[in-house]
Order: sequence, then structure tokens, then C-alpha cells
Amino acid sequence: MNEHATSPSAEHHAFQAEVSRLLHLMVHSVYSNKDIFLRELVSNAADACEKLRYSALSEPGLLAGDETLAITIETDEAGRRLAVVDTGIGMSREEMIDNLGTIARSGTRAFLEGLKDAREGGALIGRFGVGFYAAFMVAERVRVTSRKAGTEAAHAWESDGKGEFTVEPVALADAPARGTRVELFLAEDAADYAKDATVERIVRAYSAHVPVPIRGRARDGEPREVADGSALWMKPKASVGPEEYREFYHTVADAFDDPALTVHYRAEGRHEYAVLVFVPSQKPFDLFDPARKGRLKLYVRRVFITDEAGVLPGWLRFVRGVIDSEDLPLNISREMLQTNPILEAIGRNVTSRVLSEIGKLADSDPEAFGRIIETFGPVLKEGLYEAPDRRDELFKLVRFRTTTGGDAWRSLADVVKDFKENQTAIYYALGESRQQVLASPQLEGYAARGLEVLVLTDPVDAFWVRTAIGYDGKPFRSITQGAADLDAIRLPEGAGEESAPPEDVARLVAALKEALGDKVSDVRTSARLAASAVCLVAPEFGLDRLAEKLMSRHEGNRFDMKPVLEINPSHALVRALAAKAAAGELEPVRAAAPLLHGQARILDGEAPDDPAAFAQAMSTLMEKGLA
Ligand code: ADP
Ligand code: MG
Repeated sequence: MNEHATSPSAEHHAFQAEVSRLLHLMVHSVYSNKDIFLRELVSNAADACEKLRYSALSEPGLLAGDETLAITIETDEAGRRLAVVDTGIGMSREEMIDNLGTIARSGTRAFLEGLKDAREGGALIGRFGVGFYAAFMVAERVRVTSRKAGTEAAHAWESDGKGEFTVEPVALADAPARGTRVELFLAEDAADYAKDATVERIVRAYSAHVPVPIRGRARDGEPREVADGSALWMKPKASVGPEEYREFYHTVADAFDDPALTVHYRAEGRHEYAVLVFVPSQKPFDLFDPARKGRLKLYVRRVFITDEAGVLPGWLRFVRGVIDSEDLPLNISREMLQTNPILEAIGRNVTSRVLSEIGKLADSDPEAFGRIIETFGPVLKEGLYEAPDRRDELFKLVRFRTTTGGDAWRSLADVVKDFKENQTAIYYALGESRQQVLASPQLEGYAARGLEVLVLTDPVDAFWVRTAIGYDGKPFRSITQGAADLDAIRLPEGAGEESAPPEDVARLVAALKEALGDKVSDVRTSARLAASAVCLVAPEFGLDRLAEKLMSRHEGNRFDMKPVLEINPSHALVRALAAKAAAGELEPVRAAAPLLHGQARILDGEAPDDPAAFAQAMSTLMEKGLA
């Protein structure tokens, strides 16, 4: 082993600011389970071996001299040192500078951005792992020596994790013949990690299923196998225990939670392939990253090809695991994978299987099912919009909060089963939050009739609900758009009885229309209201008001549809105004019009369109009231 050997000629580089932040967090983290650093290093070593295995398909010379792809973990208790050595692809000087000085992973960046304090960071490091830099949780100094496969040069990278690192060329004799050696000079309180037994325990716990064999070797001792690197997904399901699946999930998904669902099967017939995939129980950090990338790993006959093939649709991007094909050519280029018909067929089949297995959970393990819906429901719903051919399958899976369901997740089947007499549509309300929907005046008439209304508060809801034709022959209807058509549905005895006479209301409607001019497209009475005097709704055709708001936020306000003002003929204020209108006293009606319009906007969470005039009119009215 090389003693502290950074020569004066070594180049000094500063870490990218995010890395410094991450390192600071690592060192000061209150997270107690530091074991995970080893998992991160082993995972990188395994990746390096798999990358070489793949590159050697087209360039067999890269393996010259030594065909073995393996990881060796060397311990030196007396020297308080630990090294993770691989025979993988290795790194050039530039790669060392790029890969070990910056943060590439979008998940890690999102992780840092989302952090509020170091305490939280500590816990999150434990849950997600943040790669190579985890080494500084236990090491005072880290030295990485690497020789890239097929090259005649070796370099050493070194750092104490405090702001900068050095890179220098080293003699070939001081580097692995091929691959990378990551050597940790352990901190005093981390001396335990230089023990053979500790390392073996951690590898078994976290890395037993990396697809590359792992050996342990104590100083001057014989190497012994710690993990055999076999492909768990090729084993028959009956021979794999739940604990093994769990550990494999941790390895393959780079995650620490327990999978909510495990799907393991072999397809035979037209295409032959093995599938071992998982639905996590916690949200990955990049779940709502605009790139919407999945991370399913594609293997061809046990050779790792890529985790960027996009085998599953974007709305299943949370699924983790492995698909291993027997039929794809090994030398298939990553580009060709994008349009490969075999892979497309596999993707369709795995999609169906995952959806049906999630569906089965609803009965067999409602708790796990609930967790999936809670965590990934908004992502699944993207499929309702993007994959019309999957809508029926997805409609069986998605669950909703509703206005009458309390905290329960309701299926569309539940909602339809509980339809009221004469109800023909599935009602929904778009909103920013459940509270806001429950407080909206437009809901009153529905609530008064005991109707169940879907509460849709995910951004994607505004999209799918407009394009979905219906469920089980029942159309979806917004409660804030078009006529309420609630007249056929019975009100409980005694409600809404005292109404202004229709002729009076007609006069009032005409007067309000005139007073409001082009602020509204129409004024009408409606059964939608019970306690409130007025509300605004969207015209029958076009966008729901909230959808319009959401889209304007993204694309600028290019819709600007005039809403309809609806009035409640049984409200005391409306009755009084109707009486005035009927008596030909139009002045008070004209004065009230902007106030009614303004208050309807306020109830929708908006400002009156002319706040100053609104305030002025309000003051005048209050003055009169006090006089
Ligand atoms: P990630 O593994 O998610 O990319 P890491 O922080 O663990 O993030 O590693 C950063 C990068 O450093 C890797 O993507 C890889 O390019 C490089 N790297 C780390 N360890 C090795 C290794 N043993 N062999 C080759 N490259 C490595
Ligand atoms: Mg890594």
C-alpha cells in the first residue's frame, strides 16, 4: 500500500460547491449508520465491472491479461485501512476529475436542494445513499488509484474531503493492473471498518446481490468469497426468500426502504426473458424530475446493457429492478434499443404484469396497496392521460379522496356503486387542496344532495380528467363547469324551499347581466348553491376554471374565458335583490353587481378584478348600513 504519497507536483483542484456542501454534511451528519459507505463503494466497483463487461463485447481486447471481473475488499486492521479494489473499467485522469469532483446524479442534486438542515440530511443519507462521497463519513483521507482498461497510464486522486483534491500520475506498478482501488484511511472512531468480520457483515447485509463476485482479504491473508455475484433474477421463485428479495432490491434500486411489491417471473414463448422488479414504498428523489427517467436495468443474457432503455412508460418510472432478455443481440447499441420491437413487446408485457400485480395487492395486502397509491398515485394517473389503451386497467387501480369519503381512498367502482338516484355522471372538483375544494361554494348543491365528488388536487388531474371519456359508461363532470343539472336529484326534505319567485329572479338576472357587461359570459340561477349567494363557473365548453388557471401558469394567460355568474334564488340577499328588481328599483342592483362578482372571485381564491373599486363599493355599502 502506498503511504501518504501526494507529491509536491500533484495538481490541486477545488471541489464543486455542491460537493463541498455534501462533504460537510457527511462529516457532520448525525446519522449513526455509517455502514452504508461500503455499499456505495461496492456499488461503484460493481458498476465499473459491468461497464467493462459491456464494452468488452465490442472490444474484447479490453479484457486482455485478466478476464476476471471481481471486487476485492482488503482490510488492514493494524494500519486502520480499508480498500475496495475492482478489475473494472477504471478511470482516466479526466474522468477522475469529473466524476470525483462534481455531482452528476440528478437525484443527489435534488437531495441537496431539498435539504433544510444537517439533521434531516443525516437521516436522508441513510435512506438514499449519496455515492462515493459517503467514504468521508468514515475516512480521514481517501486515495483512489485507477488504470483505465486498455490504457498504459495510471493516476491517483486524493483528498481529505476538505474543499480540494489532488490528481497525479503514478507508476503502473503502484496501480491495479486494470480497474480502481479506493483506499480509505479510516478515522479513529471508524477503526472497526478495518476488521475483516465487520466488512463481511456489511457486505452480506447490503451487497450480497451485486452481480459481481466479492472477496474479502485481510492483510497477508488468503482471499475468501463473501458474495458469489450470481444473478438472483435467474433463480426459480420458489428458491428465493423474502429477505433475499429485500436485499436485492436495496442493491438494484440503490434504496433503503422495503419494496411495497415484488414481481418475479420468467416469460417463455415468443420472447424469453426474466423479470425481477419492485415497487418501492418511498418516493425516489427524482420522481418529479422533468426528465421522468426510469432506472430499470436491462440485461442481455446476464450482461448489463443499460438502465436508460426506457423499457417501461414514464408513468411507471418508479418501478425498479432487472429485465434480462435471452433474445436481444448482445451487441445491440444503446441507441438501437430505443426502437427495438422485442424490447417494446417486453415493455408492454411487463407493464401489464406490474399493473395486474398492483391490482391484486388491493385485496391481498391493502396496506401495501395503500402505500403505493399514496406514494405513486399521481404518477400512475399520468398514464390515464398518456396511455388511453391502459385507461381501463388504470381506472381499476387509481384511488381518490372524495367529498363524502373522509380519509378513505375510494375507487371509481365504489363511487359508482354509491350513486344517488338519477345520478348519471361522476362528479369531480379540481382544486389546489382538499380544504379549498371542501370550502368552495360550487360544492354546496352537491353536498346538500349527499353526492360524492372526487377531489382532484394533483397537477396531472386537470389533464386526464378532460380527455378520459368516462368510467363504466359514466362521464366525468366538473362541479365548476357548465350547468349543474342537479334538478333531477332529490334534495333532502325542507332544503332550499324558500325561493324568490321565478319572474322576480328573471328580472334580477337581466339587471345583473346588464350591470356586469363583458365581465361574465352569462348570469343564471343554479341548483349548485345552498349557503352562498353566488359563485362563478366555467362555460359548458372549454376549460374548467382551475385547469385554466394551472395552464395559464405554464403557458401564459391565453385562454381568458369569461365565466358564468350563478346566483342562488333561495339566498336571503338574492331574494331581497330580486324583489328590488321586480319593483323596478335598479339602482341597488347595479351597486350590488360588482360586489357579488368580486365576492365570487374571492371565494375562488382570486382577487376582485378591480380591487380598488370593490373596496370603495364595499365601504359605501357599510356606511349606508351604519347610517
Ligand atoms: P453514481 O455511482 O451514482 O454515479 P457516485 O458518487 O457513487 O455516483 O460515483 C460517481 C462516479 O465516479 C461514478 O458514476 C463513476 O463514473 C465514478 N466511479 C466511482 N467509483 C468508480 C470505480 N470504482 N470505477 C470506475 N469509476 C468509478
Ligand atoms: Mg455510486
